[in-house]
Amino acid sequence: MQIHVMKHLVVLFFILVLSSSVKAQIENTSSQTQSEFMTQSKPKLVVGIVVDQMRYDYLTRFYNKYGEGGFKRMVKEGYNCKNNHFNYVPTYTGPGHTSVYTGTTPKYHGIISNNWYDKQIKAMVYCTQDDSVQSVGTMDISGKMSPKRMKTTTFGDENRLFTQMKGKTIGISVKDRGAILPAGHTANGAFWFQGKEEGNWISSTYYMDKLPKWVTDFNTAGWAKKYLKVWNTLYDIKLYSESGSDLNDFEGGFVGKETATFPYDLNALKDRNGGYEIIKATPYGNSLTADFAIAAIDGEQLGQDNITDILTVSFSSTDYVGHNFGVNSKEIEDTYLRLDLDLERLFKALDEKVGYGEYTVFLTSDHGAIEVPSYLQSLKIPAGYLDNIKTRQNLDMFMRATYKAGDLIENISNDQVFLNRAKIKEMHLDLDDVQEAIVNELITYDHIDKVYSAETMNTSSFTTGVEELLQKGFNQKRSGDVIMVADPGFISYNKTGSTHGSAFNYDTHVPLLFFGKGIKHGETLQKTEITDIAPTISALLSISFPNGCIGSPLSFVLD
Ligand SMILES: [Zn+2]
Repeated sequence: MQIHVMKHLVVLFFILVLSSSVKAQIENTSSQTQSEFMTQSKPKLVVGIVVDQMRYDYLTRFYNKYGEGGFKRMVKEGYNCKNNHFNYVPTYTGPGHTSVYTGTTPKYHGIISNNWYDKQIKAMVYCTQDDSVQSVGTMDISGKMSPKRMKTTTFGDENRLFTQMKGKTIGISVKDRGAILPAGHTANGAFWFQGKEEGNWISSTYYMDKLPKWVTDFNTAGWAKKYLKVWNTLYDIKLYSESGSDLNDFEGGFVGKETATFPYDLNALKDRNGGYEIIKATPYGNSLTADFAIAAIDGEQLGQDNITDILTVSFSSTDYVGHNFGVNSKEIEDTYLRLDLDLERLFKALDEKVGYGEYTVFLTSDHGAIEVPSYLQSLKIPAGYLDNIKTRQNLDMFMRATYKAGDLIENISNDQVFLNRAKIKEMHLDLDDVQEAIVNELITYDHIDKVYSAETMNTSSFTTGVEELLQKGFNQKRSGDVIMVADPGFISYNKTGSTHGSAFNYDTHVPLLFFGKGIKHGETLQKTEITDIAPTISALLSISFPNGCIGSPLSFVLD
């Protein structure tokens, strides 16, 4: 009882102290200008971190092996949204990064995939490809990139507008799309990694005419070269009890090494694996990203005044490792244990350079990944592989038999069928009828579980399940005429390694952690969606929401 009374007294004391300090603050503001008051309550820097292909369970499965300064620091000091999901398909990298920063889905932002069939020019296009700009820092075409296909603004764009273009935005990732899409249309710079014989960070004339001095200094200092070394496990491999055996039938590996087992001599393997490209496919790609991000804080003077800057960092090597070795591999476990140390290094640099409590960080992913289906099969869980070539052949046969024409289908990609609309018109066929006939044909194929027409997507309103996710991923202007959904556990991929793209939990459930200035400590199992991140950061900064934003601020996260 006495302890109870004491508790009440302590609480009362704090309420009194707090209310008097709030009163003092209000009185103080009368002598301050409005803008001083506004900027003082905001973080000097917001750091958005996307860990490419990070499933939610990577946070929990490896938790006991993480150090105190990386993932655990975010959990222990910040807010953990444990039931955070993608709310559209396809769950790919380009759409994922775009949705995190725009607070909307492919239906509105238009990044419907990484590569898609462009109905107007009748060719495949890449999400950040831009032939109207030039590479900066390389002669290779890998710099001819911009965010022009993204239709909506990011919270970085809104922060630029709000601050009269004084708040900077910088985007960084070894993957071009991981750097470009998060940073938005008005970014001061986006930088990505050119492997092959170069091993340099590059950009495009969309942002600048030549690389800033800090970037060329970084490139000439040989940071990439030092990672062409032996990749062995961080700790004794016997301690890696949270993943499968190192030697198994479910992993890819590198060209030039017979088994997908530790150790990997990157210097010896580089010539047959894309030169410096091999770094991207190991945890050292993440280390190099952290090195470069820390250099950017100094080089761009991020978070050095009261006008909020935005730094977007994507750790993409986790995705390459997952695709190659699968989600249950020793290689994945080692990659996350090492990423944890890179995060610790980055947070320490932020404490030092921006100041403890002066910046805000969020961490999420652009999609999850499936357990290797051949592994699931070995455990009697329904899973398997779709044969896209056979699907195409069967559908072509059906179209010839039904319409006596061999060229009614222009393209099948990303589980969507694109019809030859000119030919349909010429043959006086009804577009809706042709779509519906294909729906009724495809649904009879093995392991195709659902099929919908564009007409259905345009005229129905789905509010639950896979159908809702399909609709939020469906862009009337850019998407196809018919959409297929495979059975859970079924993918179009090699029989080794993991992939992603579906509306199922293994692809939609990803971590969402916030910490730093303006963030409460806590956790929730309440469902949050990927499109809630951008409005939450916008609310934290008191700026306009991105123009296509459909999410809601997570008020319980904010102080
Ligand atoms: Zn990705």
